[in-house]
Amino acid sequence: MARGSSRRRWIAIGVAAVLAAAALVLVVIAAFTPTHHPEYRVICSSNLHQLGLALLMYADESGGCFPPKAHDDSWVDLMKPYLGSHLDEGLLYCLLDKQRRGRTSYRFVSSACGLNVNGLTDEQASKTVVLVEKRPFHQGGKLRGIWYADGNVDFLPLPGARERAPRR
Ligand SMILES: [Zn+2]
Repeated sequence: MARGSSRRRWIAIGVAAVLAAAALVLVVIAAFTPTHHPEYRVICSSNLHQLGLALLMYADESGGCFPPKAHDDSWVDLMKPYLGSHLDEGLLYCLLDKQRRGRTSYRFVSSACGLNVNGLTDEQASKTVVLVEKRPFHQGGKLRGIWYADGNVDFLPLPGARERAPRR
């Protein structure tokens, strides 16, 4: 009887060890599955913040206006004076953008061109999309990083400012 309960205890410990190992494997898999990795959002937010800030600095020196309308990624060149050597691949591409079409993963929304940033109310700025990821790279192809003229970043399926979730 005593030996039986001892064996059961060892079996229980063995099962617990196997479950713990399985849990550890799941945690490791989750950590290395890129599409659900929250750190990629942090890096992408940082990229959007820096590029957005450079755009604001450009606007500040251009009478409040963002760069002129461009259908390609040439706006990136205009950010060079503000970002210098920081304007590298790490800043221009989302880590989840494997195809890297064009010179950056981020689209400068041309409708913001000609817009006087200084004339925007806080309310308008918070709804003005300036930068948006070209494709929904995040959350397994569901969310895009978006940078608003008020300096906030959000991750949404589409850059529809009206559906913008409250700040968290
Ligand atoms: Zn991204």
